[in-house]
Amino acid sequence: MNYKLLPFTFSRISSKEVLVNELGDMMAVPKGTVNAMVTHSIDTKSELYKSLVANFFLTENTIPALIDIYAERLVEKKRFMDDGTSLHIFVLTLRCNQNCIYCQASSQDECCHHKSMTFETMEHSVDLMFKSPSNWLTMEFQGGEPSLEPRLLRYGIELAEEKNKTEHRNMRYVLCTNSINLTDEVLNICKSYNVLISTSLDGPSWLHNKNRGKADSYERVVKGIDKARSVLGHAQVAALMTTSELALDYPEDIVDEYVNLSFSSIFLRALNPYGLASENSNWDTYTARFIAFYKQAFEHILFINKQGTLLIEEFAAIILRKMLTPWCTGFVDLQSPAGIVNSVLVYNYDGYLYASDESRMLAEQGDFSFRIGPVTESYENLIYSKKVREWSNVWSNELLAGCSDCGVRAYCGADPVRNHTTQDDKYGYRPTSLLCKKNKAIIEYLISLIIERKDEVMPIFKTWLQ
Ligand code: SF4
Repeated sequence: MNYKLLPFTFSRISSKEVLVNELGDMMAVPKGTVNAMVTHSIDTKSELYKSLVANFFLTENTIPALIDIYAERLVEKKRFMDDGTSLHIFVLTLRCNQNCIYCQASSQDECCHHKSMTFETMEHSVDLMFKSPSNWLTMEFQGGEPSLEPRLLRYGIELAEEKNKTEHRNMRYVLCTNSINLTDEVLNICKSYNVLISTSLDGPSWLHNKNRGKADSYERVVKGIDKARSVLGHAQVAALMTTSELALDYPEDIVDEYVNLSFSSIFLRALNPYGLASENSNWDTYTARFIAFYKQAFEHILFINKQGTLLIEEFAAIILRKMLTPWCTGFVDLQSPAGIVNSVLVYNYDGYLYASDESRMLAEQGDFSFRIGPVTESYENLIYSKKVREWSNVWSNELLAGCSDCGVRAYCGADPVRNHTTQDDKYGYRPTSLLCKKNKAIIEYLISLIIERKDEVMPIFKTWLQ
């Protein structure tokens, strides 16, 4: 049979060759299969051959019989490009009431009043947001600590609500807060506009307090979470953690803390090299230790799920959604084309539009490479600017050396901002990229679980994707 190869990448994981096509479909096949495919020595009467044809790895016609289905599915996987930017981050202030040892946002003292967004900047920013063609607009408020600016928070939401009377978009609001300052005024705003609270909790009290540089931080955060749950409802409060160097030795304790506080999900987040975190002692060592930490924590999460308690690891759930469902995820850190501009825009307190959250963090370090322009500028001049067009040359991992033939490329993403930050090169060099190392290790680990412990993990993963 004169079959042809369809585009796919492959890698060796566990005892298998793992093939992944452009749709993100994965097949774990016996070693030697790829060689047999490319040398046309595969048995065309075998079940394996039929599966490879049925799953879009081989085709018997120049144009596959099911090309329309293939095209539809590819469109679905890249739907975020059609939809327009949906996540709009508003950095209300750099003021903060904590002293986190890993602060990536270069936050300032609570009393520092010239580091907050003006009401005028908010007006221009909301106008710009509505220029995005997306039907779904998420307004995410960040800082510093955004709850320190309740008037600005209310003003931004009210402007959006007013504008949406004629725009008819699906609005979502998220307040990223350390939960220390969830006053009645703040919770009243959240209740009125269905604002989701995304808080941060790093683990048991001793660890959380050390990370936050305050002796009573844990106690106040837990109080804040309880208060928010009682006013807004349990489901309106989510939490995520940041893995400081100190946290690396305590994966189980951190996971148990989330269970004890009745959270049904946890996001095991690595440190990113911005702000204070950039002073981390050794990034090579940290990355290797984080991967070990992640796997140990993940095993504990699997154990907890097997005991009948639902606990989703959010980073894994995003990757699994890419592997096991036909949908795109909308998660800006694992996208190709990259999340910058395509899926996220940041309206900073300084009156400028940035390409991503990390881009505005870089600006605090004096690097304005990913500042797009003032929010007073027109949407077209900003989004189609020369700067953004130049980034588009390096934001698709399909086109990047090292990524284009990577076996897990369909589940990963491109990150010109991180490449620029760590390698002084937006294109990036994969062999020494620690982000690449971390992503590949975690993706391959999840694939190995599916291959080696399918009966044990798949029922759990399916509940995570519902
Ligand atoms: S960054 Fe690394 S893991 Fe991700 S697609 Fe590129 S080579 Fe693969």
